[in-house]
Amino acid sequence: MSDNTKFLLDESKLPKAWYNINADMPVPPEPVLNPQTLEPVTPDFLSVLFPMSLIMQEISTEAQIEIPEPVREIYKLWRPTPMFRARRLELALDTPAHIYYKYEGVSPVGSHKPNTAVPQAFYNKEAGTKALTTETGAGQWGSALAMACNFFDLDLEVYMVKVSYNQKPYRRMVIENYGAEVYASPTDRTQYGRSVLAEHPDSPGSLGIAISEAVEVAAMSGGSKKYSLGSVLNHVLMHQTVIGEETLLQMEMAGEYPDVIVACTGGGSNFGGFAFPFVRENLKNGKNTTIIAAEPAASPSLTRGTYAFDYGDTAKMAPVVKMHTLGHGFVPPTIHAGGLRYHGMAPQVSALVNNGDIQAQSVPQLETFEAAMAFTRAEGIIPAPESTHAIAVALREAMKCKESGEKKVIAFNLSGHGHFDMAAYDAYNKGQLEDYEYPAEAIAEAMKELPKV
Ligand SMILES: *Cc1c(COP(=O)(O)O)cnc(C)c1O
Repeated sequence: MSDNTKFLLDESKLPKAWYNINADMPVPPEPVLNPQTLEPVTPDFLSVLFPMSLIMQEISTEAQIEIPEPVREIYKLWRPTPMFRARRLELALDTPAHIYYKYEGVSPVGSHKPNTAVPQAFYNKEAGTKALTTETGAGQWGSALAMACNFFDLDLEVYMVKVSYNQKPYRRMVIENYGAEVYASPTDRTQYGRSVLAEHPDSPGSLGIAISEAVEVAAMSGGSKKYSLGSVLNHVLMHQTVIGEETLLQMEMAGEYPDVIVACTGGGSNFGGFAFPFVRENLKNGKNTTIIAAEPAASPSLTRGTYAFDYGDTAKMAPVVKMHTLGHGFVPPTIHAGGLRYHGMAPQVSALVNNGDIQAQSVPQLETFEAAMAFTRAEGIIPAPESTHAIAVALREAMKCKESGEKKVIAFNLSGHGHFDMAAYDAYNKGQLEDYEYPAEAIAEAMKELPKV
């Protein structure tokens, strides 16, 4: 076992291929459905929104997909990312467990999201796309894609949820620094946005509405604009697997192998990227790691949602997929982990949970902030409010070890830093934060709106 605190990989160890878990899924994938007909989609339908190279990745069953050299060159601006042993946190908790964390907050925009923004911009450029459209909640995805589009000389329109646009201006400014256009959604630029505003002039917006607007602009552009999504889809999770592949090498450097791994889940991309290489080791190479998805109690798609076909957006324009869902009309409560407020979950993550290959736990907001403070005061890093869910579950596991005396090895993914989220910490420090459980009646009501497949 190594005495080191940080485990750094040389650039030559940057993965040459992404891992495609479709090759090893223990259950066959469910079809993706056209939202109008509820029949399986044709590549033609998807090609209005995405370049063919990404559609082929979406349905590929090859285990390894080579990372294009121009993408690897840009990855080298921040990858390989460091893995740390949280020695000071272990001491503070007085636990016999060994705690490791992989840190994705070292990317230029402070999260894991550029791992897929860069290849998505690359493949679009290669296919002749002139501009991309997308949505963003708190602005993390918007800033990652704005950076990537700038690198590949593509225009970008970002539909940003209005309440975040007004309350969290800094990421909006970051997006503009990279040269992209940002609009507060709902806007009057789209038919769907205008219909929302006609009914609710003061609508604060939602991720589901912003997705509908960005999809509509791409679909109506006659082919010049394509749409880009920052999570949920198979190819997005696959691009993120550089995280887990690097972590496997770094655990080898540490001379240990994790008994438990944890990552937070909004749409499932940092979780899939961190966990899928470990799922492969479980399924194919005789390992037996407990793999846990950590989600907010206020947006509990995996722990309290239904595994069913549902629309990906509010306006029912995005494809219908089988996933754990709280219903496409889900109105997210205002918790501070903005990136975790989506009604659904990545189909691959949902299928693995449903099949018992991975587990899920939900965490109330106050517990996540308590865990974040313990982590910050021991390790120095201020985590993104999303990432605090992973820390909280890692702490639960470490405290179980303290009770039982077990020396488990726990590894979690720290998906980003929280430097743009200080208002949330300020509210916590002033005692203004509350717990919120999503009401069971609201879930039952939303289930009546599921498409009848
Ligand atoms: C967007 C975001 C998330 C949630 O998205 P996933 O697709 O579930 O990973 C988590 N952490 C950070 C820092 C994010 O920016």
